[in-house]
Amino acid sequence: MSSSSCDETENDAENVGDKSFSNSDKKVDIPAEFFEYHGNVHGKKARFYKCLFEGCKTKVKKDGTLKYLIVKNDSRYNAKRHYLAHDPGGKLGHKDKWRSAIAKNSNKENLDVISRGP
Ligand SMILES: [Zn+2]
Repeated sequence: MSSSSCDETENDAENVGDKSFSNSDKKVDIPAEFFEYHGNVHGKKARFYKCLFEGCKTKVKKDGTLKYLIVKNDSRYNAKRHYLAHDPGGKLGHKDKWRSAIAKNSNKENLDVISRGP
């Protein structure tokens, strides 16, 4: 009697469909109390923002223009990361401030865009 080793490799294709790609030009809201809008990034679906955090210095490029934070239109990740970086120890409560600002914004958003007739 031979004990055959079970060599079956389970080929479960993990369908992690977590990529909700945006098919529209929807722009996420960046809380105005933290970042100041400074126009679109040329040729990209992104926008320039200036951090309003006290003590945060906007970098200056070699040609003398300010180097703003670039935030993608469909993701506020960069802004959030930058904002949270000002509170590395979590003492200032940036995480909560950011979250409530986003919640406030999205509530407003939903109210604004209720009916858009064809
Ligand atoms: Zn900053």
